[in-house]
Amino acid sequence: MFAGVRAVFFDLDDTLCEYWEAARSGLFEAFAQHGPPGYPAEEMVGHWAKAFRNFLKEIPHPDWYPRYLKTAEITRTEQMRRTLAEIGIVDEERAKQLSETYMRERDSRLRLFEDSIEVLDLLKPKFALGLITNGPADLQRQEINTLKIERYFKAILIEGEMGEGKPHLSVFRRAESMVDSTPNETLFVGNSYAHDIRPAIDAGWRTAWIRRPTDIPPSAGPGGSAVEKKPDDAPNPDITINNLRELLPHLPS
Ligand SMILES: [Mg+2]
Repeated sequence: MFAGVRAVFFDLDDTLCEYWEAARSGLFEAFAQHGPPGYPAEEMVGHWAKAFRNFLKEIPHPDWYPRYLKTAEITRTEQMRRTLAEIGIVDEERAKQLSETYMRERDSRLRLFEDSIEVLDLLKPKFALGLITNGPADLQRQEINTLKIERYFKAILIEGEMGEGKPHLSVFRRAESMVDSTPNETLFVGNSYAHDIRPAIDAGWRTAWIRRPTDIPPSAGPGGSAVEKKPDDAPNPDITINNLRELLPHLPS
């Protein structure tokens, strides 16, 4: 399937590492420790999810985006202010405490999927490997350090450091130039159709859409399900996989 591929780029969150699960338990822990009295953590996660879905629409605006690119703290704390506002509470100290605890508890739970290191080890001698991840510069660097994966990659592209992220085509062009590959020689492996797969197809890359069973964001709310669907008229990825090992038989040896 992927004859001629020389470079393999990966998305980070929920492709190589189990981000949503860490975020979900980090949130529960934060609200269990520092949530307002009388409000169960589960209920607060629901309020967080609603506030998050609304706030997400504002992040690309000039009011927030430049600050979001630099550091995760500003929008994470604002997100907690808005969560408390959902239940009519204004409490700056508590918002900061929740934000800090959420970050710490999430980071301490961040894990690579068990197949990630195995597959990266196998691919590293044969392909130029790269990482393309969206998010604030400080947070994405912190994740890469926590997971100890920097040494695998010839190219690391972070939205916060570049000033723009996926799905912008320029990100994919920059990635090609960093590993000196043509679009047809370049494969992208990612969990989001909209942010990873569609723009990679548009860039002329080969694509593997990874759909892990844990890939449900906490913004779906407790017990929620928000599995991303490909729009009917949108192009298909070359392959769809459930874990990274399933990629191996498709790659040139
Ligand atoms: Mg992802």
